[in-house]
Amino acid sequence: MLGKKLFGTRGIRGPISTKVTPELMLRLGSALAEYVNGGEVVVGWDTRTSGEMLARAFTAGLLSGGCDIVEVGVVPSPCVAFTTKDLGAGAGAMITASHNPPEDNGIVFYRSDGTEFLTEDEVSMERLFFGAGSRTTGWDELGSVRRYDPVTPYLNTIKKMVRVKGGLKVVVDCANGTGSVTTPRLLRELGCKVVTLNAHPDGHFPGRPPEPQPWNLLDLMATVREVDADIGLAHDGDADRIAVVDEQGNFVRPDALLALFAEIAVKRSNGGAVVTSINTSTAIDEVVSRAGGKVYRTGLGDFTEAMLEHHACFAGEPGKLVFLELGPWADGVFCAAKMVELLSSEQRPLSEIISERVPNYPAYFSDFPCPDEMKEEFMREMREYLLAQVDEVQETIELDGLRINRKNGSWILVRVSGTEPKARFAAEGRDEAELERLKNIGLSKIKEILKLQQ
Ligand code: MG
Repeated sequence: MLGKKLFGTRGIRGPISTKVTPELMLRLGSALAEYVNGGEVVVGWDTRTSGEMLARAFTAGLLSGGCDIVEVGVVPSPCVAFTTKDLGAGAGAMITASHNPPEDNGIVFYRSDGTEFLTEDEVSMERLFFGAGSRTTGWDELGSVRRYDPVTPYLNTIKKMVRVKGGLKVVVDCANGTGSVTTPRLLRELGCKVVTLNAHPDGHFPGRPPEPQPWNLLDLMATVREVDADIGLAHDGDADRIAVVDEQGNFVRPDALLALFAEIAVKRSNGGAVVTSINTSTAIDEVVSRAGGKVYRTGLGDFTEAMLEHHACFAGEPGKLVFLELGPWADGVFCAAKMVELLSSEQRPLSEIISERVPNYPAYFSDFPCPDEMKEEFMREMREYLLAQVDEVQETIELDGLRINRKNGSWILVRVSGTEPKARFAAEGRDEAELERLKNIGLSKIKEILKLQQ
């Protein structure tokens, strides 16, 4: 992490009582003004109760540094990225804690082309933040604020990029987050019949926790069955993510979505690179190589750099998909449009499309408490043990933990979290018996090192 103190794996995030305070935001505003050397900055925020408070402090810092603000208010993160690129602003900033609990908030920055700030940008920002002093301008050089509605141009651009025949029935669960202001409207304008859940902005998140995990989407699954919908869609708090439920009300594996859209992108660009994270299924490799493309893996939260390096035609982590034809940011709203486009062109149930196009290998994911001071030793012991125990090794990937790919396509992954005191373990077998065997190899040693019961 090059010694970053402020930025985590995606922007800055934490409780508003201790970390993401108005004071922090004021200083970040000054630092950003200095970093972009004045000019225009797009500022948006999510539906959290602290959004407006933090936006005002952040804006004050920017104004004092001579930046002009394009204030877009409560909109999805991808809409801020789009607007930054669309208006040619110097930078974009989204005040959000994504799927964290309501008492948290945070901020994500975008470059003028809509790319999330790279590590080098974050390191420079920290240098300015912790440096001698902030940029201050004279009374006659202070910035100004203009309000701007970005939703109409954003949705119009998306609508021009997809072809959807009307008549699909879609249930959308917006988690009371920013997807509420875009996705139901977008789908209606695309001719879908839309049933909404949790689709008014509310920073208390009264409907469900904002993380779109299957156990938080039981209402969505039930509603899809009840109203006999073609598909169910669910956002996280800032709508850069999406989760999907098929026409039977079953949660669709995030890896299957990655594979599906990677295949479409590779076919459209006649081959090309796909960048995905270290914890995703080899089903993606199979689908992509069949379509004539190649998969590159990165650590969690690191795909932006790799995406640029390999000139990827598609990138993503589970739930977070980047459609390069729109721009280099994760976009759950655009993904909603792409989902209904796919259904409308195929004219058959989603479960059928997925089972036909994406292999389904049994997989296991789990995490374990692992104190920060144990992480190094844990990884050293696990590495030594797994390299000795796992046979038929095709390749090992050591970008973010250790992933061992076996010759038959199965794999095992062990890593430690960069943000929480946790170790993570995953395995994927060709069949249940192989999964069980790989799982036991990993779990027995994890329990021994971490001294866990059973
Ligand atoms: Mg998010």
